[in-house]
Amino acid sequence: MSSIFIFLCFSCSIFSVDKTTAKSASSSSKKNTIPVWPTDNPAFSKNQPLAAYIQPTVSGDVTSGTYGCVRNNGNRFHSGIDIKSIHRNRKQVPQDNVFACLPGTIVYLNTDPVRSNFGRYVVVEHYLENLHFYSSYAHLASIDPTLRQGLSVEAGHRLGTLGTSSNCTRIPNARAHLHFELGLKLGSIETFQAWYNAQKFSTPNWHRDWNGLNLFGIDPLAFFQSHLSFLDFLRTQTIAFTLDIFTCKQPKFIQQNKALLKPSSKTKKVQTGWRIGFNWAGLPLSWEALYQTNPKVIVLHTYDKNELTRHGNRHTLEFKSDGQPFIGKTLRRQLFCLFGENFSL
Ligand SMILES: [Zn+2]
Repeated sequence: MSSIFIFLCFSCSIFSVDKTTAKSASSSSKKNTIPVWPTDNPAFSKNQPLAAYIQPTVSGDVTSGTYGCVRNNGNRFHSGIDIKSIHRNRKQVPQDNVFACLPGTIVYLNTDPVRSNFGRYVVVEHYLENLHFYSSYAHLASIDPTLRQGLSVEAGHRLGTLGTSSNCTRIPNARAHLHFELGLKLGSIETFQAWYNAQKFSTPNWHRDWNGLNLFGIDPLAFFQSHLSFLDFLRTQTIAFTLDIFTCKQPKFIQQNKALLKPSSKTKKVQTGWRIGFNWAGLPLSWEALYQTNPKVIVLHTYDKNELTRHGNRHTLEFKSDGQPFIGKTLRRQLFCLFGENFSL
């Protein structure tokens, strides 16, 4: 992603849908919380190899279309998965349908592809198990004309047609794909916009808090393979480091995602901060209220260097040549989005 983003084995519980079933899913009043594969490519549900449904970059290495530090020798992070086109018309133009993976609400439509390296994209917000999380569907050729912000959709609701739209790297027709993301929004519009303004980007933040730089994707393939709810999937993630942040601020992130808050023992003391556990990529998975005071604003409480380094360099908690830990550029942005201020160890 450019810096301006201007942005199941596999059992029957995970399935692909064709246009007909998508229609019936969208018209059903029954909420279906079983994830639906976001295109009409059945390869994943048939347990076929990655190459049958993942679109690699120009490198041709299929892992380059998966999630993680999978590009530029582990130095470039890919925040979702790229799902390839399998349906073309006579002129080789992709015809693949794109579907909402879970029930939710359409919260953002970017209809102007020149405003984002994600091109035309749709964001659906899901609220399940005391978690607000999102799925996004990018590089679309077209967005379904019936979509409106605020529209409730079921899993399998048609969102658009897979394509190549982007304002950044030209995606050739042969590599048309859906960039699919699933994750958590970090900042409120206030904290994210404050961070954005401080970066001196050359273009406005067209996408409000639905800008990709404010969205934190998890590994969608691992989620689909897990057969777990989104919350239970998050609970399987390993904590790579823990920060104590002494602040009276109550980030919107934790207000909206109370399922991530550890229950605290009843106390009459005033909360003084947060102990936050992060996974290797910097996802703030576990929140605990602190009641003791500390002269420092931020303290590194625990870290697991192996867990932090084995996935490639995501620039979260990093280490100087003398082994001293420091806050990398990605974690700096994430903390600013969460709390609206800069932190350094
Ligand atoms: Zn992608």
